[in-house]
Amino acid sequence: MSELSSDIQYLPGVGPKRAALLKKELELGTLDDLIHFYPFRYIDRSSITPIVSVTPDLAYVQVQGRVVSRNLINIKHLSIIVEDGTGRMEMVFFKGVKWNFDRLVPGSTFLFFGKPQAYNGRINMVHPEVDAPQADPNAKGTLTGVYPSTEKLKTAGVTGKTMCKLQRGALALCLPEIQETLPDYILQKYGLPPLVWALQNIHFPSDAGALAAATRRLKFEELFYLQLSLLKQKYVRSRASVGLVMPHVGAAFHACYNALPYALTGAQQRVIKEIRADMSSGSQMNRLLQGDVGSGKTMVAVLSCLIAIGNGCQACIMAPTEVLAQQHFANIQKYLAPTGVKCALLTGSTTRKERRPLLEGLADGSIQLVVGTHALIEEPVKYRALGLAVIDEQHRFGVNQRAALWSKGPLMKYDQRSGAWVPVSVSERPAIPLEGAQGGDLSLQHVQPHVLVMTATPIPRTLAMTFYGDLDLSVIDEMPPGRKPVQTMLIGQNRLPAMYRFMRDEIAKGRQVFVVYPMIFINEKMEDVSNVEQGYEDIVKAFPLEEGYKVAIVHGQQSNEQKLFNMKAFVEGRAHILVSTTVIEVGVDVPNASVMVIRSAQRFGLSQLHQLRGRVGRGAEKSYCILVKDPKTGKDAQQRLELMCATEDGFEIAEQDMKMRGPGDLEGTQQSGLPIDLHIASLVRDGAMLDEARNCAQKVLDSDPSLDKPQNAVLQRELRKGKYNIKDYSNIS
Ligand code: ADP
Ligand code: MG
Repeated sequence: MSELSSDIQYLPGVGPKRAALLKKELELGTLDDLIHFYPFRYIDRSSITPIVSVTPDLAYVQVQGRVVSRNLINIKHLSIIVEDGTGRMEMVFFKGVKWNFDRLVPGSTFLFFGKPQAYNGRINMVHPEVDAPQADPNAKGTLTGVYPSTEKLKTAGVTGKTMCKLQRGALALCLPEIQETLPDYILQKYGLPPLVWALQNIHFPSDAGALAAATRRLKFEELFYLQLSLLKQKYVRSRASVGLVMPHVGAAFHACYNALPYALTGAQQRVIKEIRADMSSGSQMNRLLQGDVGSGKTMVAVLSCLIAIGNGCQACIMAPTEVLAQQHFANIQKYLAPTGVKCALLTGSTTRKERRPLLEGLADGSIQLVVGTHALIEEPVKYRALGLAVIDEQHRFGVNQRAALWSKGPLMKYDQRSGAWVPVSVSERPAIPLEGAQGGDLSLQHVQPHVLVMTATPIPRTLAMTFYGDLDLSVIDEMPPGRKPVQTMLIGQNRLPAMYRFMRDEIAKGRQVFVVYPMIFINEKMEDVSNVEQGYEDIVKAFPLEEGYKVAIVHGQQSNEQKLFNMKAFVEGRAHILVSTTVIEVGVDVPNASVMVIRSAQRFGLSQLHQLRGRVGRGAEKSYCILVKDPKTGKDAQQRLELMCATEDGFEIAEQDMKMRGPGDLEGTQQSGLPIDLHIASLVRDGAMLDEARNCAQKVLDSDPSLDKPQNAVLQRELRKGKYNIKDYSNIS
């Protein structure tokens, strides 16, 4: 049996008991696991601190001193006083008492290493590591790795020193067996040291330079394989999928484009070009479109749909909520007016009577564009030829919906003569297309429509490259002209009266105001509406009907009709104030609204706050976002709120959010936790290296797409191990 795969318990110094603990606490089962378990930081053992400058706030110190006295307080408590010419310090032992008593003979000098602490007004160290003194105190020492550990491990005697000993033993056994994981040409090109050297030096660096080189090598390897695996997936899919070739732009596109009331921004134009290139390429498009709130994604979606329509296909736009679907539909119809394209709305509340002609229209192709909720991809809906699906606010659509989407693609037939897939004409269609195609005629298949996923939750670049690394990415990084900055303020509850006065002033100017409350989940399903209802009462008291104020309220517990009715009152300007929970979070467009008040703002995440703020600043001369915090606002929350006041750039907010909270816990990434466990690389800190690794992976695949060349055999082998497979994470791929 190879050493690498052998059980950790047979390593000298481990044994079954410790092995069980190492498995349970750190998931270390084999020697291979152990040698890939790296220190999370290093202590510079080369520096010796004079006792006089030791303070309890130092994490670790190393002092070198002469034992002046040893005092056996009882059988389980040994106190040693050490002196180094600058001062005296106590070392305390509750374990290994006899052994330490015997070796720490007064008059002899030792090196003590540990965490200083204040005790009874003095500084001591409990259980310091004790070593022979350094012959030359100026000699260059080594960096000592500190490994992640747990209380249980420490109690069981697996100290930092033990861990170092185990690593030394494991490396001695394993290094001769270690196979290099990167091809020579990559090591050379990127100036990376071999794996064996890197492993040796990540655990026992000979100096800071060696540590840096080892770290870089191991990080690069991780990021490289992550990207190689993603890009390979993408490559395989694009080769396997039959794309609908859409060579034309079409009359509808031009008609819409020419009638636009504004010029597209440079970013919108660029993104439309990217999409158009994808749709005419012959492979299936899988593109993620990121653009901040208000950056004009809808227009891009509509023009993309018109390309599909211009090529004889249908298109659909899916929104996450009914309200949004309605709003999209209303907007889109305006854009479509000059095109003659027939557009319909399909949601959960479409009545049965309306539904029938609608389904017929989709099946026979007379309805070319349909806007709606996930009802669009539910079972009874059949399209004649769905060529493009636009999914707005991607993170709310799940894996099952993706599968459902594929089966809605147009039916194609393999034409033996030309060796290509061609659309099945209506007359050729089997009576029950879906089942018929899959059960019987193998030359018939549904072709996956092109997919454009749009998200307004800016995701840090490194996360996007990981979560959506197998999608193509387009970014709208430019706002339409005329968008006014939103002034953001953070206030406490004591300033509420002043805020009400301010709201009255704005309303007097003809503006409207949002007041948003957080949703509070008492248990799994129940939403506490008392918060928003109480808020509504407060607002109505401060803005009474007798004085002419009209206040609308919208929350999740209302029926759809109620919600729509109240929302409409606000959208159409009949209500001055809209009190709501976060149901208005995405997409709602009320250009006349100039104030966004967010109550209990500390309860919201950064990206949610950013989304909410994006509801204003869309038309009014000047807009405001007022964050009202509760008295008990924690330090982290305070920091988030201050960041909101400091910047309006969604991407910057997302980056900062990731820095504050770590990459595994971001909103908009759906699950917390990353799709892959990175041992050493960090998506927060290693962005530049991620680019380098992705470029490298891309180049490798460009020149050897199936990794068949001998020099890439090692890449095949490593990928097959499955270590870098991405867990099912994204909703669309
Ligand atoms: P989002 O990206 O948040 O979905 P929308 O598509 O809703 O943004 O656009 C926000 C607003 O900006 C809409 O009122 C839209 O009409 C307007 N808009 C979009 N593109 C432009 C442009 N190029 N110039 C001016 N206004 C634009
Ligand atoms: Mg939108």
